[in-house]
Amino acid sequence: MIKQQLKQALLSSGVLRLAGRLHGKGAAILMYHSVLEDPGSVADSLGGMIHPRPIFEGQMELLAREFHPVSLDQVGRFVSGEEELPERAVVVTFDDGYADNFEMAMPILDRLGVPAAFYVTVDCVESRRLPWPSRLRYSFRKTARKEWKGEAAKVWNLGSEREREAAYLAACDRVAMLAGAEQERVVSHIEFDLGTMLPAESGDLMMNWGQVRGLAQGGHIVGSHTMTHPNLAHVGVEDARRELVESKRRMEAHINAKVVHFSYPCPALFPNWNEQTTEESQRAGYETAVTTSSGLARRNDNPLALKRVRPSKTVDGLRWNLETAFAGREV
Ligand SMILES: [Zn+2]
Repeated sequence: MIKQQLKQALLSSGVLRLAGRLHGKGAAILMYHSVLEDPGSVADSLGGMIHPRPIFEGQMELLAREFHPVSLDQVGRFVSGEEELPERAVVVTFDDGYADNFEMAMPILDRLGVPAAFYVTVDCVESRRLPWPSRLRYSFRKTARKEWKGEAAKVWNLGSEREREAAYLAACDRVAMLAGAEQERVVSHIEFDLGTMLPAESGDLMMNWGQVRGLAQGGHIVGSHTMTHPNLAHVGVEDARRELVESKRRMEAHINAKVVHFSYPCPALFPNWNEQTTEESQRAGYETAVTTSSGLARRNDNPLALKRVRPSKTVDGLRWNLETAFAGREV
């Protein structure tokens, strides 16, 4: 309560805005995933990355009212010194490629004139399947098994919710280092061991190509989020190259336009980018790439390793995260 009052006092005093001005210009690239009317209905697969629709709408109204929504292309040109940005510039981005991005988020964005960028996990769109972290979350939460044998024959108890979560995170650390067919082999093996898997209709939560095209035709940016959602900083260079190149190629064929924006998946392990991945993403033909490191995008930053800001799950939380990010905080 006291903390809340302190935050409110800081926000209304103007101190943060002043600090922001002293800190110089930058853009806050916000990272969203999913927007749903009833987040509880898919909590066992998507977990905590869903924004309830009314909160998302309130957050977008805040951006339109108190900040300056700009496009990712503008930020790319700002970072490389070709263009100026307005004060308090914000960019809305979505990772993974959920159908609700098209169905729920786009109408709100368009009503308010907020441009956004949507990063698509190509194999998930084509196979009608959720990204693997959601598949594993579901299996670990729903399994009737009492234990699971992980790497190096380590036995994980699955009795309590906490133990299930710990085993799930260990599995994520392992799968995050795998891509393509090998990743699929290990994920389906774990699903088999746990004796339960996400129902096939959960694939309807992913966009189809028609919806991806609809976003692009609506004036929004669509970019790649890899083929199979590995942590690119933790896979071999051949796998990383394939994820970058093949996802771009397939997206371009389906939307009939150039794809020059990329988002590094961060399913587990940190960081999710390094010098090699930025070089490979440039070689593949990308012009910008966003990470999950926190902070603003600033002039002369590497455009292939742009920081982002987490939006929080409330309107006040978003205002606080933005004001403190503009004031120079990088958490
Ligand atoms: Zn992702």
